[in-house]
Amino acid sequence: MDCVFCEIIAGKKDCFKIYEDENVLAFLDINPVVEGHTLVMPKRHVERLEDLSDEEAVFVLRAIKRVVKLLLKKLQADGYNVVVNAGRIAGQEILHLHFHVFPRKSGDGGLFTPKEIDLERVYRKIMD
Ligand SMILES: [Zn+2]
Repeated sequence: MDCVFCEIIAGKKDCFKIYEDENVLAFLDINPVVEGHTLVMPKRHVERLEDLSDEEAVFVLRAIKRVVKLLLKKLQADGYNVVVNAGRIAGQEILHLHFHVFPRKSGDGGLFTPKEIDLERVYRKIMD
């Protein structure tokens, strides 16, 4: 299967991993739009939310909640956005279901401006 997220999940590609359990993996987006921009995904390759079983959906949402709490605490964020893009029409680029978590702070420049963010520095901040 030609899926970059499956390769990361299999440990064949590196990532800045910030959360993992039996069913779910979360790591920093390599093209962040805000500090701490994270992708949370089921380990099983499915394309869209509706392809998950109800049980898997619970596992994923539980992991999102844990990631949100970690990011709020470690990055002193004031809020967050959780976004899923499903289908090409919605801007889904990698066809393995993933949720974007965007920690938000005043003055963060918003979600539509690309920024130079040092991932390693952010990673150390989150995982210290
Ligand atoms: Zn995949």
